[in-house]
Amino acid sequence: MSNPGLSDQLSESPLPDPPPSPSTSSSVQRHADGIYISGLRKTFSIKRKEITALDGVDLEAERGSFTALLGPSGCGKSTVLRILAGIDEPTSGLVTAQGLTPAEIRDAHHLGIAFQDAALLPWRTVSSNIRLPAEIAGVEASDEDVAELIALVGLEGFENARPSQLSGGMRQRVAIARSLLLKPDLLLLDEPFGALDEMTRQRLNLELLRIWSERSTTTLLVTHSISEAIFLADTVAVMSPRPGRIRATVPIDLPRPRSPETLRSPRFHELTDELTSILFSAGATAGDDL
Ligand code: ADP
Ligand code: MG
Repeated sequence: MSNPGLSDQLSESPLPDPPPSPSTSSSVQRHADGIYISGLRKTFSIKRKEITALDGVDLEAERGSFTALLGPSGCGKSTVLRILAGIDEPTSGLVTAQGLTPAEIRDAHHLGIAFQDAALLPWRTVSSNIRLPAEIAGVEASDEDVAELIALVGLEGFENARPSQLSGGMRQRVAIARSLLLKPDLLLLDEPFGALDEMTRQRLNLELLRIWSERSTTTLLVTHSISEAIFLADTVAVMSPRPGRIRATVPIDLPRPRSPETLRSPRFHELTDELTSILFSAGATAGDDL
């Protein structure tokens, strides 16, 4: 891995006695700008049996960067995201984003999240679904903000439609718009287009890139699609099967802006080969939906 974790940095330290806690806080300080995860471990107890979902996850991402977290089903991708979102607690390890703990980020409403299932409220219109995070946070969302988001995700004319009147792709656009309402510093996307057909997914990936490049929000996208990860990200972090840890981080040196042409470039195919072999050497099997 190109980014050594905190424990590696400490073990490589030439000092026989690293100063007490300041090492930890200075690392947090140093990484205050983006996502910083070090030595993250997460266990679940199921029927008195302990399951280790994550064991020693180290991951760093710069502010404004786009990172894809790639790995086979069950390797713990969603668990990493849920911990960053302040929904699950780590068992141990250090997790910060923009220098804040997940709970602080969440409570300060600096966080946007969208999951595979758009989870819209069926009785609300598109506009009022997008407004929901502001209501929960107790802040005002202006009509202009909502209109801008609707335009950003290409849903003009559907402001007053209900979710049941929308296609799956349109519902996911609403979910993306909603995740952006509070102008988050951190955007967490868990396979937001995973349930959609390939064509719609590619179109929405292009839109997601356009939105991200306009807002340059630090983004972590969970996916099990190699091509989606390469197409979108600055860095792809590959996880090993459970217990999950980061097996490799691969910088994606494809130029931006990216377009459907990108998918046909020789470099795209090289990166696909490289990531495929990392995934399979990490223990993914042919049965995994990658
Ligand atoms: P992924 O998103 O990569 O498919 P998950 O993060 O959902 O993987 O799950 C990782 C592992 O942790 C799986 O073995 C899963 O069964 C387990 N797990 C996740 N959430 C829970 C939970 N709330 N209770 C018990 N086990 C869980
Ligand atoms: Mg998942």
